[in-house]
Amino acid sequence: MPTTIPTLTDLHAHGAAQQPNYPDARAVEEVVAELRQRPPLVFAGEADELKARLADVAGGRAFLLQAGDCAETFGNVTAANIRNSLRVQLSMAVVLQYAAQVPVVKVGRIAGQYAKPRSNDLETRDGVTLPSYRGDAVNGLDFTPEARVHEPRRLLDVYNSSAATLNLVRAFVNGGFADLRTVHSWNSDFVRSSNVEEKYTQLSDEIERAMAFMVACGVSDDSLRRVGYWASHEALLMEYEHAMARIDSRTGNPYGTSGHLLWVGERTRQLDGAHVELLASLRNPIGIKMGPSTTPDDARALVERLDPNAEPGRLTVITRMGAGKVRDALPPLIEAVESTGRKVAWVCDPMHGNTYSTERGYKTRAFPVIWDEVDGFFDVHADLGTWPGGVHIELTGNNVTECVGGVHELDEADLATRYETACDPRLNREQGIELAFYLAERLRE
Ligand code: PEP
Ligand code: MN
Repeated sequence: MPTTIPTLTDLHAHGAAQQPNYPDARAVEEVVAELRQRPPLVFAGEADELKARLADVAGGRAFLLQAGDCAETFGNVTAANIRNSLRVQLSMAVVLQYAAQVPVVKVGRIAGQYAKPRSNDLETRDGVTLPSYRGDAVNGLDFTPEARVHEPRRLLDVYNSSAATLNLVRAFVNGGFADLRTVHSWNSDFVRSSNVEEKYTQLSDEIERAMAFMVACGVSDDSLRRVGYWASHEALLMEYEHAMARIDSRTGNPYGTSGHLLWVGERTRQLDGAHVELLASLRNPIGIKMGPSTTPDDARALVERLDPNAEPGRLTVITRMGAGKVRDALPPLIEAVESTGRKVAWVCDPMHGNTYSTERGYKTRAFPVIWDEVDGFFDVHADLGTWPGGVHIELTGNNVTECVGGVHELDEADLATRYETACDPRLNREQGIELAFYLAERLRE
């Protein structure tokens, strides 16, 4: 494994895809120099701990729930948003853990998910064309020429917002908020207050009884009160990720310290590209998004490049095929990766292959189609005898209306009510918990 980090100049020489066009190179250098002075946001030992948990996922001994916003925004770094997001993720994890009877590894798309790859550099509205929004890390969402300028000082806000988020998350997961008994009572409230099917009431009651049994057995308060929780984001921006890449003083190895798990996106996973080059040099657990255009050769070459030592827990492959394609497109990729002798964590992103726009121009996703991709993912793994290791979901803890379907049967006309995402449509809290109950059925098979 490499023990050095390529230079920023080396990385740019690979022609990094999806980077900002900063108007002032001097300003960029100043920001990068300032970021390099800042303390790490996460510690190498924590990334190693997550890698060990992900090795369990890859080995069929744990299940991964990776979830959070498509794009975090600076304005949404509030206690309420962070609490609500954590609340729905922990709620879902309880249901999944009971159903799967294995630990659920909880990883947020959080504390760093501020930069977005875009299909188009430009956006046109009513005859006006401006640079596309690329996430708060790069420019502003407002459709004005000023907001859409690529501004390097935003990277310092990414650092500060991520630090503030992580600080609260760490407090929540260790400070009693994550108490299993409280978290499950949120699920019971969901089941009681919505018109969900009878079988979910039964499952929820079963979990309650299991919990009462544990307490009666004297299971220690501490093990019920604390949970492991890790931060992840797409490692997109070279300047930021490079500035946050550090040599770990304990081991002398390079780690990305902007988040525990870093992933390479569907649009930036070129084998000879800058993103793969950077992530190959870091020792964190790494995610790779793979869409339906991925060939078995691509998949094989990518896993060999990013995990030359076949290290347990190193790779999480996040497939996002689309509900109509998953059953045909996924098996050849699994077979190609398995043929290298590696055990990776296979995770289903049922969001990104299933996005469409309504006539009124809302980007959305339909709950039954999202479920169909997850279902296809489970079917494929059952056929091949591999472990369906987890799911990767875009969601929020707030009561938004961005995806259609689900227990409240949101339809396209409802989208206008509370459509708040800065990028892709997210499941709301109730749709998230409902998805967990659906997943529970497949996990109990
Ligand atoms: C995302 O996860 O928000 C994303 C852009 O995904 P993908 O790289 O799979 O398109
Ligand atoms: Mn997205």
